[in-house]
Amino acid sequence: MRVPTKRLNKSPWKERVNFLSEDSTVTIIEHIDYLATMDDAQTEWQNGYIVIQNGVIQAVGTGTPDVGTATATRISGRGCIATPGLINTHHHLFQKVTRVLVAAQNVRLIEWKRANFHYWSFIDEEAVYVTALVALSELALSGCSLSSDLLYVFPVDVNGTVRFMQSAVAAAHDVGMRFQPTRGGVDFSLDTGGAPPDRMMESTDDVLLGMERAIQQFHDPSPGSMCRVGIAPNSLTMCTPRLWMESRDLAKKYGVTRHTHVAEFVEELEYFQETMGMRLIARLAELGWIESDVWLAHVVHASSAEIDLLAANGTGVSHCPSSNMRLGSGIAPVRDMLDRGVCVGIGVDGSASNDGGNLLGEARLAMLLSRVSRRDRLTTAREVLRMATVGGAQILGRTMRC
Ligand SMILES: [Zn+2]
Repeated sequence: MRVPTKRLNKSPWKERVNFLSEDSTVTIIEHIDYLATMDDAQTEWQNGYIVIQNGVIQAVGTGTPDVGTATATRISGRGCIATPGLINTHHHLFQKVTRVLVAAQNVRLIEWKRANFHYWSFIDEEAVYVTALVALSELALSGCSLSSDLLYVFPVDVNGTVRFMQSAVAAAHDVGMRFQPTRGGVDFSLDTGGAPPDRMMESTDDVLLGMERAIQQFHDPSPGSMCRVGIAPNSLTMCTPRLWMESRDLAKKYGVTRHTHVAEFVEELEYFQETMGMRLIARLAELGWIESDVWLAHVVHASSAEIDLLAANGTGVSHCPSSNMRLGSGIAPVRDMLDRGVCVGIGVDGSASNDGGNLLGEARLAMLLSRVSRRDRLTTAREVLRMATVGGAQILGRTMRC
């Protein structure tokens, strides 16, 4: 399969928005058995309706909507529950290339990296396109309408970033999914084991240049944008202090969001405590990365003081229960985060550590896993549905933040 390059020179979504603005018809989904809006008042209706015009939901309610003289296309919602689209806040779409890799089935994170890195270092733009197409289709089938992505493997040539990002953006366009890709980066590796091969390492300058090109080429900040780009140094063990600080400046310059992994496995925490006398989230705060435009994947190992720090600064968390269980990383303190005011979303994480990408299933797992760790205070289905919708929107900067 070849990557369709003809429409990749600019964000393809701008064409779609223009097309929709000329469409004056109204679509009504009516007689929905149960409609859960996930608004602040937790409004829910039986016999609900949704009115859509120009690709935007204009009204929701119960009974029969008044659409005046507009021409309406009516769709029956009988037998259905309607919720906002689910939002996936952490993924590595390219990892579909090593889904269910035999050598990575029964090992923890460091050995898992060793098993996967070799294959990832050889991916090309066709692999990026095909894996994104499969991964986003799988998400769409489980109710997802917006996905983030953290792509951190790039060829070491000056146009590599644009080619790889083009491939992922094209796949999102072809699936029809709102997309929030982040340009990752690996410019360093601490000797904690599981170091990436040289082919995956970039210079700090190249990562920063790649991030800026990705923003300039694909970021669309308009309301309802189908493609917003962020930046994402991979983790504290794989990035230099200079990359953290200069990529922060870059994000501020363009007004884009920031994403990374932190506190995923206990060895990472122990290493920083032994060598620097610091906890991981304190180190990120020192680098200017505990702020309201940042969301963090995992946060499995966090103290009460660190959870309060995240809440106070409006820093979001992407909870990835399947991946955390699959790699034996631990149980993230999601109940405590919610109770202390941290904004939490749900992420399926890459298929190399999930073996799937079912977002509704991931939300259910989040509810069950939270109940394992906090039997005194059971997380409810509505709470995890809120995390998988409004929570995700908030940490991706799509609505007012927590
Ligand atoms: Zn990840």
